[in-house]
Amino acid sequence: MKMRICCTTCPNECELDVEVDENKHIISAVGNKCPRGLTFAEKEVVDPERVLASTVRIDGAAHNCLLPVRTDAALPLRLHFDVMRQLAACAVSAPVKMGDVILPDVCGTGINVVASRSIA
Ligand code: SF4
Repeated sequence: MKMRICCTTCPNECELDVEVDENKHIISAVGNKCPRGLTFAEKEVVDPERVLASTVRIDGAAHNCLLPVRTDAALPLRLHFDVMRQLAACAVSAPVKMGDVILPDVCGTGINVVASRSIA
C-alpha cells in the first residue's frame, strides 16, 4: 500500500511518499529531509498521535468563558474521542494558571490535559 504522510515534527512539514507492507512495516520512503521524518512515518502508520486541544467550562472566572486546554504530549488519535468526552463532562474553578493539570493521566497514558492559559 502506498501512502502520503506529512511530517509535522518541525515547520518544514515534509511530505513523504511511503510504501507499507501488510504488517504495517515501511518498505520505502522518500521526501523526508531528515531521519526524524521516517520515525514520524513509522509511528503514523502504526498508531498516529496528535496533541489534543480543546476547551473546558470554567466557573467563577471574572468573565464567563471557556478555558483552553491541551495535552502535554501527543496522544494516540484512537483515544481522542474518549478524552473529548471526559472534557465535555469536566468543569474547573477559577483561578487557573497556565500549565495546571486539568485531567491527569488520561486513559492511563501518563499524559495530562493542562490549561493553555491563565484565567483569574
Ligand atoms: S522530515 Fe525532518 S525536516 Fe522534514 S518535517 Fe520531518 S523533522 Fe522536519
